[in-house]
Amino acid sequence: MMEQKKKNLDQINKIRKNTNTTRRATVKKIENILYKSFKVLDKGFIRVIDYMGDDSSIVQAARVSYGKGTKKINQDKNLINYLISHRHSTPFEMNEIKFHVKLPIFVARQWIRHRTANVNEYSARYSILDSEFYIPNKKNMQAQSKSNNQGREQQLNDIESKQYLGIIKKNSKHAFSDYRELLNEDDGGKTLDKNKNGVARELARMVLPLNAYTEWYWKIDLHNLMHFLSLRFDYHAQYEIRVYAEVMLDILKKWVPLTYEAFISHRLENISLSKHGIEFIKNLIHGKKNNKIKISKREEDELKKKFGII
Ligand SMILES: Cc1cc2nc3c(=O)[nH]c(=O)nc-3n(C[C@H](O)[C@H](O)[C@H](O)COP(=O)(O)OP(=O)(O)OC[C@H]3O[C@@H](n4cnc5c(N)ncnc54)[C@H](O)[C@@H]3O)c2cc1C
Repeated sequence: MMEQKKKNLDQINKIRKNTNTTRRATVKKIENILYKSFKVLDKGFIRVIDYMGDDSSIVQAARVSYGKGTKKINQDKNLINYLISHRHSTPFEMNEIKFHVKLPIFVARQWIRHRTANVNEYSARYSILDSEFYIPNKKNMQAQSKSNNQGREQQLNDIESKQYLGIIKKNSKHAFSDYRELLNEDDGGKTLDKNKNGVARELARMVLPLNAYTEWYWKIDLHNLMHFLSLRFDYHAQYEIRVYAEVMLDILKKWVPLTYEAFISHRLENISLSKHGIEFIKNLIHGKKNNKIKISKREEDELKKKFGII
């Protein structure tokens, strides 16, 4: 496995030495990181394989211009802000980015729900999966949340988290050993029992657990990437997918800095208020009582949190 990792790294270093000339828009900060792997979780990564367009491509598309778009960065900035704040999506669909991601299967199941991307996954019918499993950090071993059925909260004590981590490790090891037995091959590809055939890869993989790692190429346009990030960078999203979104958000900042700024301001850090939510805030501002407002406890808590009201 170490050998494979070294081979992968050699290939990345080799490809990073190539440069091509082009008339197309390039972004220096993305060129600097192109093909590089950014570590995510214990054994996962994300890297940019290709991209199309920059901030000015969005302006060009919005204006359907012949040249480079507008003249000044401030004009580009204002236009991009306007487009994002008014939910004009199509100019952002003109830019695209392609990632190579290595991620646990249970994260991939959440990720694949985003239907607006193009995906090509590593084939466990064709190839044998490496013995790589996601094992959470001790600090991420948390108990079920009492207020949110879809989340976790309180950190476990050392004894409990050690015990559960032991179960996860044992289960992963056991599953991988069964996988090898079904394939009738050891880690190095040697036959385990010459009198047996083993089962096909497409069947043997059934015994692998959800924390086994898979890999895919994932290509998406900028509009849908921002949609993905607004859902998966959010604190409601599971930690294990949020950490990928965190790295992608940083890549977004390098790729299209003006769009990134507008996205943070109008999408990630904005507040969406329901009719009752507006009433609730109005009453607060005017010092009126809020006992007649039909606002859900969840919305009330979110509003209080966002406005810093305890
Ligand atoms: C915190 C969180 C918890 C979740 N919990 C669950 C859960 O318990 N169970 C579960 O099943 N899912 C769950 N999901 C997945 C969620 O319901 C969405 O499937 C996922 O976030 C993808 O969102 P999307 O459809 O907007 O994205 P994309 O598939 O990327 O689509 C982007 C947009 O394109 C449009 N679109 C794309 N395809 C179609 C189509 N075929 N028809 C109409 N419009 C389309 C829609 O407007 C959509 O918003 C959860 C997601 C999050 C972030």
